[in-house]
Amino acid sequence: MTDELAGYLASVPSSARQMMARALSGKSKSPRDAIRTKCLECSGFARDEAAACKVWRCPLFHLNPYREAGK
Ligand code: SF4
Repeated sequence: MTDELAGYLASVPSSARQMMARALSGKSKSPRDAIRTKCLECSGFARDEAAACKVWRCPLFHLNPYREAGK
């Protein structure tokens, strides 16, 4: 792990750190897991914000697993 990556991971909330570490090391369990991580990061690591996403121009909009869960 590089110092840059370690520094970034230290800034990620502990609840999402392991998920982010997996994604950034290319070890996400699936593309869906990587998308989940991206949506969480995009939403300031707040699941309710990810679920409330209205950014229809985002290529991940229809794949956002938090939105689907909120339906
Ligand atoms: S779908 Fe929404 S939360 Fe996910 S990456 Fe796009 S803009 Fe961010």
